[in-house]
Amino acid sequence: MIDKLFLEKNGYTFKSNLGAGMYGKVVCAYSTQRQRKVAIKIVDTKKFNSDNWEVFLSREMEIIRSLNHPNIVKTYQILEMKKNRTVYMVMELCVEGDLLKYIKNKGALPEHSSCRFFTQLCEAIQYLHSRDVAHRDLKCENLLLDTFLNLKVCDFGFSKRLTYTDGQIKLSETYCGTPSYAAPEVLSRSPYNPKVSDVWSMGVVLYMMLYASEPFNATNIGKMVEVQKKHRISFPNSPSVSSEAQDLIQSILHPIVEWRITISNILQSTWMLRRGRMEESDEASTSVSDSGQEEPPSEKATEDKELSNDISDPGEGPSTAAERQ
Ligand code: ADP
Ligand code: MG
Repeated sequence: MIDKLFLEKNGYTFKSNLGAGMYGKVVCAYSTQRQRKVAIKIVDTKKFNSDNWEVFLSREMEIIRSLNHPNIVKTYQILEMKKNRTVYMVMELCVEGDLLKYIKNKGALPEHSSCRFFTQLCEAIQYLHSRDVAHRDLKCENLLLDTFLNLKVCDFGFSKRLTYTDGQIKLSETYCGTPSYAAPEVLSRSPYNPKVSDVWSMGVVLYMMLYASEPFNATNIGKMVEVQKKHRISFPNSPSVSSEAQDLIQSILHPIVEWRITISNILQSTWMLRRGRMEESDEASTSVSDSGQEEPPSEKATEDKELSNDISDPGEGPSTAAERQ
């Protein structure tokens, strides 16, 4: 399926496979122009079973082109191979892979490292939300780590630019994402504010970092939603995690959307402020700049390009998460 000749013609030499998803693959390739390795996500549109795939894909492409943040994976170039109906998204390579693999290797992470990753995640999502984009599939597999262990959000396949009616966010009605990370309002199919539901998924990510396990048993979704709605979160005794971290998780995984903590309040929480300070003193001598990766100036124009608003809205994106799992 990977057309190596097509890659070569465009200045990329295939190196290895990095990951595989429902719609294609992610590979590592060497870029002659950049003189370094990049990651290329290859999407085979023939595998889409929705009629609106062109609009979904163009939505993902427009969104990733418009984003420029140190904690969001940078897209350098998008190549379309019309005859095979394949799209190649060339991005920065995150050599340390995704956060799920990292947790599987290392086990539960220390609080100061979790806090550092979580701060970077908060900053990325705050940026995204300020531009009225919701991610809608936040999970450890979609958070990548670069060579300096900086966290980068990837996979905008479910993301959506939000619209307003009379100053109110238009609520989403399509179930998106992965059940174990999805908020109860999403799982119970009520119209939901996707920004607030992104925050819930961030809480699941934080729990995963601190405990290396999921906060809820997702084998029976109905039962899981009942537990979530009772606001019953169980914290294992081991590893031992501070009560400030547990309090923060409790306020993120709040079933009542109006009471769920906001990202700016997360950043002001006792745990984040205290652990953040600890990390500064721990790692002052080893801190690294944002991405540390140089960027040819010519590409900036593409990255800063704004999304044009003329894509007609097909609805909410692929209709079920199952399609993408
Ligand atoms: P999918 O839509 O199939 O989930 P993703 O964009 O999430 O596609 O990529 C699938 C997997 O490939 C990720 O979970 C990660 O392990 C790996 N991957 C994706 N992008 C990169 C990248 N830029 N650098 C390193 N690994 C990546
Ligand atoms: Mg993914």
